[in-house]
Amino acid sequence: MDEPRQKPIPVTRQERASLEQHKQRYEGATGDTGDWGKFLGTIALLGLAAAGIYALVKATERSQQSVDVCCCRCSRNFVMAVPEGTGRAVYTSCPHCGIELVVDLGTSR
Ligand SMILES: [Zn+2]
Repeated sequence: MDEPRQKPIPVTRQERASLEQHKQRYEGATGDTGDWGKFLGTIALLGLAAAGIYALVKATERSQQSVDVCCCRCSRNFVMAVPEGTGRAVYTSCPHCGIELVVDLGTSR
C-alpha cells in the first residue's frame, strides 16, 4: 500500500515557513493531523473548491465506510465509498449530472 515518497517539492524557505504555520494552524483547529502529503492534498482540494474550480459539498450522513452526498447542481443524492485512511476532502463527480465535486467529509472521524 505505502508507496515510497517522491523527491521533495521545491519551495523557498519563506514558503516553507508559511506552509508550516498554516499546517499547524489547520491541525490545531481541526485535529486532522498527518504528514505533508495528506495536508497538501486536503488543502489543495479545499483551496481549489474555494477558488471555484470545483464545487464544494459537505457529506450529509456518514457510516463506517461511506457517506451520503447531495449534489449541489442537480440536488440528487448519491452514496460514496470512503475507505479507511481517506483524508478530509475527496474529489469525485456526481453520478447523475457529472459535475466535478470536492466532498468535505468534515473532521468528526
Ligand atoms: Zn449532480
